[in-house]
Amino acid sequence: MRILRRDAYACQLCGAEATEVDHIKAGDDHSDENLQAICTPCHARKSSSEGGAARARELRQLRAMIKRKPEQTPGRTHWRDAKPRENKGF
Ligand SMILES: [Zn+2]
Repeated sequence: MRILRRDAYACQLCGAEATEVDHIKAGDDHSDENLQAICTPCHARKSSSEGGAARARELRQLRAMIKRKPEQTPGRTHWRDAKPRENKGF
């Protein structure tokens, strides 16, 4: 592949022999600028850390939401109480 040849078959992350082509930024950008030669271990580490980080962020947000829920309940009830009164005024 031309990307491997361009990068002299050297992994752009660790310098080992590259056998795969990686998207620098994940997505649908298949331009040469967004592609780099990469070795299999780095590629595996990169894709697993990308997926893992996203999943960890989601989990942290979820846990934060669950933790915050009891604190927010009084505020939410207040907001829900106020809303029908507003509607009745109309
Ligand atoms: Zn590597």
